[in-house]
Amino acid sequence: MPALVLDGKVLAKSREQQLKTVIDQLVSEGGRKPALATILVGDDPSSATYVQMKINACGRVGMGSQSIAMPASTSTEELLAEIHRLNNDPKVNGILLQHPVPDQIDERACFDAIALEKDVDGVTTQGFGRMAMGEHAFGSATPAGIMTLLKHYDIVIEGKHAVVVGRSPILGKPMAAMLLNANATVTLCHSRTIDLATLVRQADIVVGAVGQPELIKAEWIKDGAVVIDAGYHEGGIGDIEKTGLESRVSALTPVPGGVGPMTINTLISQTLESVQRNLM
Ligand code: NAP
Repeated sequence: MPALVLDGKVLAKSREQQLKTVIDQLVSEGGRKPALATILVGDDPSSATYVQMKINACGRVGMGSQSIAMPASTSTEELLAEIHRLNNDPKVNGILLQHPVPDQIDERACFDAIALEKDVDGVTTQGFGRMAMGEHAFGSATPAGIMTLLKHYDIVIEGKHAVVVGRSPILGKPMAAMLLNANATVTLCHSRTIDLATLVRQADIVVGAVGQPELIKAEWIKDGAVVIDAGYHEGGIGDIEKTGLESRVSALTPVPGGVGPMTINTLISQTLESVQRNLM
């Protein structure tokens, strides 16, 4: 049987329709339009594209956006001042600081300056800690989007061996915590891992989050596994080599159109949730 395609593009589109309905109703009842503030520091073209895609998604669901562009020479203090301003702006419900920021900026300090209730991209240390402990927090957008995708397609996580390759604070680490909270047995791999191939061969669920084209080889992946590829490289290549996988794994995410749309969808869903939590 061919692998089930975990289609993030289709799921994100249907979830956008639901978000639009809720936001339209909120506004028609006299509520303020939810709004996401985006901060882009520097002139990296890929980052600019990602931010624009997020702003476009806000527009599609009737959400407001405030787009802040800061020069590549911005200091940590200047960025912190902007984040504090947005924290105190009642018209802003969520804050996205596009990663990565230029080297001279202390990115962790800036992420952690985002108010917890506006941390809709799930990047703060406090949010991560709460999420890992099973308390409410906005999850880091990419792994939280992956969890939504797995749930939508009824992929069984409990009891499965999940192997996550990559341990970044925004992706691999929170992914491992979310899978653990969903009762998977989790192995978290990174650049110092010895014999990655042997570990990936044991995976019922494998998550590629390394940022290197096809680093994870198709022949390492066992028959019937669930394959989640967070990577995107030029030419539609992911972090996982797909040759022959379609006919022998149980499910896989396409690249593009799998994880990426779910990241954006999670960001805007969590921005709306931030408004709803404030109304409660
Ligand atoms: P990152 O911060 O560069 O982290 C890469 C991780 O991969 C690190 O933990 C690193 O280990 C590990 N790694 C590097 N080489 C390895 C090797 N040879 N063997 C095993 N592990 C290795 O990247 P990221 O931000 O997490 O992103 C990872 C991927 O996801 C990228 O392709 C990125 O484009 C993609 N991504 C997609 C979305 C989306 O919305 N679709 C969002 C975010 C990221 P060490 O910790 O030991 O250095």
